[in-house]
Amino acid sequence: MERQDAIIIGAGPCGLSAAIALQDIGMEPLIIEKGSIVNALYHYPTHQQFFSTGEKLAIGGMPFYSTERKPKRNEALVYYRQVVMEKQLRIRSYEKAVEVLEEEDGTITLFTVDQHGMQNKYSTTYLIVATGYYDSPNMMGIAGENQPHVFHYFKEAHPFFAQDVAVIGGKNSAVDAALELEKAGANVSVYYRGSDYSPSVKPWILPEFESLIKHGKINMFFDTKVAEIRQDTILVEQNGRTREEKARFVFAMTGYHPDHSFIKKMGVGVDEETGRPLHNPDTMETNIRNIFIAGVIAAGNNANEIFIENGRLHGALIAETIQSRR
Ligand code: FAD
Ligand code: NAP
Repeated sequence: MERQDAIIIGAGPCGLSAAIALQDIGMEPLIIEKGSIVNALYHYPTHQQFFSTGEKLAIGGMPFYSTERKPKRNEALVYYRQVVMEKQLRIRSYEKAVEVLEEEDGTITLFTVDQHGMQNKYSTTYLIVATGYYDSPNMMGIAGENQPHVFHYFKEAHPFFAQDVAVIGGKNSAVDAALELEKAGANVSVYYRGSDYSPSVKPWILPEFESLIKHGKINMFFDTKVAEIRQDTILVEQNGRTREEKARFVFAMTGYHPDHSFIKKMGVGVDEETGRPLHNPDTMETNIRNIFIAGVIAAGNNANEIFIENGRLHGALIAETIQSRR
């Protein structure tokens, strides 16, 4: 069993930021990551542009320069790789954390498994869970949702040229996907349960979206619920009436939520009302001593209240708390 100063699960921007904060107080944390670094950002749409400026995505005091005011995904991948190299962060990639046990003396044991199925075991005093939310899309729970032509992630538009595509949802991912699909020549219809454009949609993308709707390039249906997904069609409910619409492919851009089951198994409680893991927001320590959370895992039912801009600050709070105990 390997003994570590501190272990961080997840090499997303917030896990990396926490690792740097711990290094800054003289620790040598180890990061366990089931994919590559910033795995969620890697899985974003290929041409994604952030809504945050580079300054607000930067971690560890390293400036994030980009060609435009708001960086693109590929620039962020370069930036975070550079941070990892510059700060010499210790990362075990392609190793998944599967179980955590706390011994009576307070020692924390972490069990992992790598991509070949090899198991590993670590012991540590401090554990920081920074596992994000992007692995858990919000399911609609409707018939046909699990078919292979239904996606909860949008990557690129080209394969959908000249196809009837339904986009479900009315916030940033839905609007972004609809814009890209239309640009690539797909026949796009957006089905949104809201009555009007969501105020969450970034103001700089709304004018183009509205203009395409006005000119009949994108069909927009408000107050509309998708009730069932069939092979080449969907059943939609609007104003109490059900009808069938063409949909060869479906993008359910219904958002994501942190999967709290992993931390629950460690004994971390989750507030039933807010859906938030029990933790002190001033220290990010959970109800289990020396187990901390960082980044969007700390969010509750409204996962959008924590993002890189504020989640990157959690590491400093954790480091301060650990420092006071050493
Ligand atoms: P993540 O980035 O999700 O990192 C979690 C890491 O943990 C992942 O690498 C994952 O592989 C790893 N992991 C998970 N489970 C395990 C396990 N069991 N063992 C080992 N590793 C594990 N936020 C902004 O501030 N500005 C923006 O402009 C912005 N744009 C966005 C655009 C899109 C399309 C999306 C979807 C989100 C955007 N966000 C933005 C939100 C932002 O991506 C998230 O808030 C951010 O990724 C949270 O960082 P994190 O480190 O908490 O989690
Ligand atoms: P989101 O903000 O959670 O929006 C999900 C959408 O799906 C909402 O419109 C929601 O409806 C709808 N929805 C949720 N559950 C549903 C259900 N069961 N049935 C039907 N509709 C349902 O998710 P997102 O748009 O993927 O955004 C996720 C995060 O990524 C956010 O933080 C966002 O800001 C960020 N993001 C950033 C960018 C960018 O930087 N450019 C781009 C995309 C996303 P309601 O509106 O009624 O809630």
